Amino acid sequence: MSVAQPAAGPVTVRVPAKVNVQLAVGAARPDGFHDLANVFLAVSLYDQVTATPAEELTVTCSGPDAAQVPLDRTNLAARAAELLGARYGIEPRVHLHIAKDIPVAGGMAGGSADGAAALLACDALWGTGASRAELLEICAELGSDVPFSLVGGAALGTGRGEVLTPLETGGTFHWVFAMADGGLSTPAVFREFDRLAEGREIPVPAAHPGLPAALAAGDADALAAVLANDLQAAAVSLRPQLADTLDAGLGAGALAALVSGSGPTTAFLTADAESADKVAAALLASGTCRTARTATSPSPGATVVS
Ligand code: ATP
Repeated sequence: MSVAQPAAGPVTVRVPAKVNVQLAVGAARPDGFHDLANVFLAVSLYDQVTATPAEELTVTCSGPDAAQVPLDRTNLAARAAELLGARYGIEPRVHLHIAKDIPVAGGMAGGSADGAAALLACDALWGTGASRAELLEICAELGSDVPFSLVGGAALGTGRGEVLTPLETGGTFHWVFAMADGGLSTPAVFREFDRLAEGREIPVPAAHPGLPAALAAGDADALAAVLANDLQAAAVSLRPQLADTLDAGLGAGALAALVSGSGPTTAFLTADAESADKVAAALLASGTCRTARTATSPSPGATVVS
């Protein structure tokens, strides 16, 4: 094990949200999970988690969606601190503050992002000397989307999404994200997927062969042609207004639109920054969403910033 020094003061980690540029979903497995072929892309909407030594494990959260974030031990940031502490025999006496900008229950892996960020922050605070592979193992234990939040960039996730193969990206992609009122529960969206799939043959999930090349070339038109989310029909079935948001963004010139992960956030790929601003303004004016934000990708994974 490498020797690491504990940090002297608070540690702050910045962590990106993700969009699934492809989410292929297989039939439900006997354990209830679904096999996935999941292409993640990290985008420039960030949470920050600050870890400060404290008497006991506590969590606070600030930001527009803070009221919806649990502050008990079910918070993925708290669970990350507990798991890391348990593995290295350290009492998790730490205060975790989450400055939240990623929408909650929005299909952008905000909770997973906070889990990865807290893990990295506590690791630096305690100087555990954990290897990258050990941190990734703890991430996978925390949840299927957590390893990607640590890694960032672009990656293909298989299994439940947690087995990652990094993908090359070239250039910058420009996005608009439309946030809806209220969240959608990921398990509820998978249940709706199963209901809609009843009696249908579900193919084994696989990444679109054109996707890695589109990402590597930084080619927005090529990426737009292959964006796909098998959960979209289920999310729209549970939240029919999402169809209006998708139409509004496409009408304003987005190259492609899709529901982000399990929704209800919708994602719009645009040709450039100027077009992204136009699409965001049109989405806001359409009244079909709570807010619209521009962002770029790829973004690096969880990073210590101070
Ligand atoms: P995914 O895209 O991974 O399916 P999501 O973006 O739809 O997730 P999250 O914001 O991760 O959803 O939140 C899902 C639920 O997880 C929340 O409703 C909340 O109860 C719980 N949760 C636990 N920890 C956190 C956290 N740090 N931030 C937000 N929600 C959290």
